[in-house]
Amino acid sequence: MNSTPNKIVTRFAPSPSGHLHVGGARTALFCWAFAKGRGGTFILRIEDTDQKRSSDAASIGFVKDLLWLGIDWDEGPVFEGCGGGDRGPYFQAQRLETYQKYFDLLIASGKAYYAFETTEELAAFRDGAKAENKPFRYTGEAARSLSAEKVTEFLAAGKPAVIRFHTPQTPITICDEILGEAIIPAGETDDFVIRKADGFPTYHFAVVVDDELMGVTHVLRAQEHFNNSAKHIVLQDALGFRRPIYGHLPLIFNPDGSKMSKRDKDKVLRKAIAERGMTAPPANTVDPTLFSAWIKDKNTQLDLASAGALASALGVILPEINVDDFRRSGYLPEVLCNFLSLNGWSPGGDLEKFDREFLKSHFDLPRVVKTPAKFDRSKLLAFNLHALQAMPREEFVTKVAEHGRTFHPEFMARVTHVQFRSLCDASQERSKTLDDLFRTNGFITVADDALEWDAKAVKKVLQGTAPNGQDHLKALNKILSQCDDWSVQGLEKAIKTYIDVEAGGNLGVIAQPLRVALCGGTVSPPIFDTLAILGKASSIKRIERCVAAHA
Ligand code: GLU
Repeated sequence: MNSTPNKIVTRFAPSPSGHLHVGGARTALFCWAFAKGRGGTFILRIEDTDQKRSSDAASIGFVKDLLWLGIDWDEGPVFEGCGGGDRGPYFQAQRLETYQKYFDLLIASGKAYYAFETTEELAAFRDGAKAENKPFRYTGEAARSLSAEKVTEFLAAGKPAVIRFHTPQTPITICDEILGEAIIPAGETDDFVIRKADGFPTYHFAVVVDDELMGVTHVLRAQEHFNNSAKHIVLQDALGFRRPIYGHLPLIFNPDGSKMSKRDKDKVLRKAIAERGMTAPPANTVDPTLFSAWIKDKNTQLDLASAGALASALGVILPEINVDDFRRSGYLPEVLCNFLSLNGWSPGGDLEKFDREFLKSHFDLPRVVKTPAKFDRSKLLAFNLHALQAMPREEFVTKVAEHGRTFHPEFMARVTHVQFRSLCDASQERSKTLDDLFRTNGFITVADDALEWDAKAVKKVLQGTAPNGQDHLKALNKILSQCDDWSVQGLEKAIKTYIDVEAGGNLGVIAQPLRVALCGGTVSPPIFDTLAILGKASSIKRIERCVAAHA
């Protein structure tokens, strides 16, 4: 898979320390589209040099998230038909020998050196700079003045050491296809660490070596890395490497200007807990000690599993941040890709809806914006609603079923094929996500004699001056018990006269009490669909039980 000199090569290089954030997914999407649309190569490289924070599970999660989005890679870890290539391994933790070769080169040429300062000594340097009101810049005179013999002696004795790059004290010019040119003044970049005490390269070093050896021509990544480019450029020069073309992508913010982060989930949970005046966690959610520590310190975050358990017990929906969250919430991958690509880029004109193929053939750097993109959730939801509405019914049923098997297996096990199909028929028009059907139809999977009624709904819909909801339920129960055609049309016909005579022709007057009796609350598919889906025996049982309970 050797590239021809002019072939475009991009890479997405995640550090697998958690889940794939939408910002990362957008970077991957742009790198993918840029290379694929130009007959180039898209590489996936796993930057797992931070051994404390990286895990295999996280790498696999990232890889799966990318494939779910339809972002496939030509070179990289081999997974489901993607990857391979002769410039690997594509996990940095497996490339230590390669890095060592370049460390040796830099040491031998005097461009890098071993430094033995302890954490305490470095902290003292920092404090000194702070006391003088100066930014801390490591210059390393002491380390560089160590004799070769002393260095050998220290290393032989196992004294912890890092390798630092001796940064030339000249201005560094960063040329960026999106942000333009910036000159970093001499002295801004100090002698930074390129090999950590544990023997692993730092991000700066590994990225430079790998981008060179993997033939990367275009580095497209988040703007937060812009200043890092200065370090990468000085290293490239020192090692005699090419300089790739840089394009730093705008960050993605919440509409209120805050950064989209995992903390947003904690914020929603804290608010819900404060509103309910809770001092202990609901049973079987979060460990009580963990809960009180988290409540006390607003800067702490719950792990994803605890946050999820707490959210479902409180009945709140957490904001989606990671690709996996969006999948769980029932967004279509093609819609998410479409929407993400509009966060920081646009094809021009009014066009907003397009597929990945379009993105591949139209994505370009001049139309990437410099300012942060605002993640408009309501727009994403509207995109998803339209895509679901436009979907052929069979495809909708298949997609919802797939989603259900993955995220709601108990629900799928409890509904019959016919019920599921009817639910899909009744909900496609209004489904904003593939998850809506499961969120709003939980009543189906509850046993008839275990259904609980929402107290507020009971008060509002069943009680009050006669004829109230209860009165309607009693009368409807009689009519429905005699109904033999339990289809949507049959049911409509059976109740029509009652609605005309007793409810002034207003379906809502009887639909809401029926809903409370059948589903426990005021949300369900259209009422005749709800009755048909539940079937006659269940419907009658639920109405009778509700009437008896609220007599
Ligand atoms: N591992 C870095 C990250 O996850 C990659 C940055 C880059 O693309 O150079 O942010």
